[in-house]
Order: sequence, then C-alpha cells, then structure tokens
Amino acid sequence: MINFEQAKFITGSTGPLAGGHSVTSPDDLSVSLVKSLDSPDYVIFPGFCDVHVHFREPGFSYKETIHTGSMAAARGGYTAVCPMPNLKPVPDSPAHLLEELEIIRRDAVIDVLPYASITVNEEGRELSDMELLCRDTVAFSDDGRGVQSEEMMRRAMQEAKRLGRMIVAHCEVNDLLHGGYIHEGAYAKAHGHAGISSESEWKEIERDVRLAEETGCAYHVCHISTLESVQIIREAKARGVNVSCETAPHYLTMDENDLQEEGRFKMNPPLRSSRDREELIRGIQDGTIDCIATDHAPHSREEKSKGLKGSAMGIVGLETAFPVLYTKLVRTGIITLEKLLDLLCANPRKRFDIPLPANDFTIWDLDREYSVDPSEFLTLGRATPFEGWKVYGRCLMTVHRGRVVYADPSTGILY
Ligand SMILES: [Zn+2]
Repeated sequence: MINFEQAKFITGSTGPLAGGHSVTSPDDLSVSLVKSLDSPDYVIFPGFCDVHVHFREPGFSYKETIHTGSMAAARGGYTAVCPMPNLKPVPDSPAHLLEELEIIRRDAVIDVLPYASITVNEEGRELSDMELLCRDTVAFSDDGRGVQSEEMMRRAMQEAKRLGRMIVAHCEVNDLLHGGYIHEGAYAKAHGHAGISSESEWKEIERDVRLAEETGCAYHVCHISTLESVQIIREAKARGVNVSCETAPHYLTMDENDLQEEGRFKMNPPLRSSRDREELIRGIQDGTIDCIATDHAPHSREEKSKGLKGSAMGIVGLETAFPVLYTKLVRTGIITLEKLLDLLCANPRKRFDIPLPANDFTIWDLDREYSVDPSEFLTLGRATPFEGWKVYGRCLMTVHRGRVVYADPSTGILY
C-alpha cells in the first residue's frame, strides 16, 4: 500500500479544472479537495457517495462480497456507499446487523454504511427493531420490495420520525405487477413479454408522499423510473413535503428502445419509454431528483444468462456510473459537470448526513476514451447494459481518508 504522502506526485498546483470548469462544492461539506493536476487532463473530485448498492453479504457472497463490492466502488470513484438490507440474515435486529457490521469492519476499503430493514425479514408484516438498529445504520429500507400495507408504512414513518431517521423506499405495488419483468410498452408488446406498468411504481410513491406529509417523516424514494414519479415528487417538494429521490444512470441514458434479449438489460424497475427518460432528465435539471445512485445489483453469470424473461433482476453499476453520465449528459451539454458532482456527491452526502472525510477524493482523466469492458471490473458481477459503450473518463486513483484504495494499472501505483 502506498500512502497519500507518497502519492502526492500526482496532485499538482491548485487551479481551475480542465476545460475551464470551476467546480465549487457546498461550503457545509467543506469540499475543498477539487483542484487541478499538473496535467490539464486530470481532475480531482471529492469522493462520490452511492446511497443504493447491493453487496450481497452476508448470505449471497457468490454474487458479491463487501470486499469486492467496495473495491468496485473505489474503482468507480466512490468513497461511501450504503448497502441495502436484502441479505441473509436481513439486518432487522441488532444480532442480524452485527453479522454484516463485522464483515464491513474486516473487509471494506471505503465507508460502507448499511441500511436496516423497515420490517422483519422485509416481509412487510412487523416492524424491525428500529430503535435498536438506528445507531449503526444510515436509514431504513425494505429495498427489493415495496411495503404493501399503508398502515405498516404509516407506523414505520411515525417511528422513523421519532428516531430522527429517514425511510427509504423501493416503491412497487405487488398487485399491479401481473408477472411483468420489463416495461409495459412498445418493446414488450412487439416481443411478447409481460410488462411492468408505470402505475406499479408511482401509485406507491403517491401513497408514501401522502404519508410523509401526514407524519412529517423524512422520506426518500429509490430508483425512480417513470415520468409520473417525477411529477408527483416535484409537486410534493413544491408543497414542502420532506421528500427526496434518486434515479440511476441507466434510466437517464437508456430506454426500452435499447433493449436486447439479454439478461444484462433486466433490472427492477425496468428501462421505461423515451418520454420517461426525458422527464427524468428534466427532473435532474430542475432539482426534483436529488441524487443519482447506481442500484449496483450483481448476480452470477448463470443467474444473468437466461434472457429477459428468465434472468435475475439487477445490473452492476459502480464502475460505469461516472463515465456513462459524464459522456452522455455532461459532454453533450445536458447538465454541467458541477451538477453531476452534486448528484453523485454533495446531495446524497447532505441528505443522508454522510460527511466527506478529510483526504477523500478521486482522480480522473476525463479525456481518455475507451470501451466499457466488464472483464476489467472488480465487482464479481459482469452484467451491464453499457458493455461495449464508448465512454470518456477513466478513474486513475481513489483516496479514502488519506489512503489509496484504488489505482488504475496505468499509473504504476501499487495499493
Ligand atoms: Zn429497489
């Protein structure tokens, strides 16, 4: 391992970023590490923060481990991530959570801040030990499933409000799924697939926003994918509801027109229509959408090899998020680089109260073009719809709390 002092030769004089971007970050985060390198091609960003990942351990370490997941995150420029609780055991009690915390303490190379589940075993029937769980977790979520019962969600929000914690929700009405597995749209119709309606997502968001307004609970919606979801949240924010949301890189850069008959195009929620994608872009532009999270969800090769119908839901995303977003949204002028950094770093850290530590940053070559090649990934998952995409932006190094946790082979730096 090379420590930060030895690696300083990569940093250079301070000054504006390459291409005249001047990146200023919010004072309250004290993000002061953004500065130029000697080479105008290199830039330093504050460590990114992903509030929605699946690291699969304990329980499913053949898909991913805390170690491989956090290594992949570091390679993507992240220094803080929040793994979801759909594990075995589900972190629904202090004893169950302890299993996850012990692995994190032993194996994580960056800050890994777990969620506790909202309900016991994420079954939606009984609240987890929320009071005992809140000290060592970032927030509460039953991600992977929606909390179907309105009364259960109301009680969860009341309790979260009392504890000063946020409810983070995967919104999905099971009764509206009808066996669907890709978006209920033109592609599903043309190829004979069972569709997932947009309503299955936005109906539950509509309910939860109402409950958040009623209870005063801080509420965050996971991976929004439909135009109605954007509109509901936009209106709720205008009314002053304490609501925030995230979307994922694939919903902003792809839609059903990009689908192929392969498992790497299957995730939940699914790629929607181009109208949905356009509204999501408006949502990041006008601030309705606060964060971009990857929903990094690795599965084994076998689990992803059964086409759109038979494959498991979920794609990997930590190692492609910044290059894909930078290439498709910043270089095309849809959003500024500053805006992208807010979505990947400042906003999630602020909303989830995850401070940026000192000496926590990531160094990128923004002008290097390459093809996304899953065989280079550090995650155990390989399924990505971005495979083969030509992108700009290569992570050269990530430093977490002054320690190099990732260095690109081209730097010759060992870590
Ligand atoms: Zn989810």
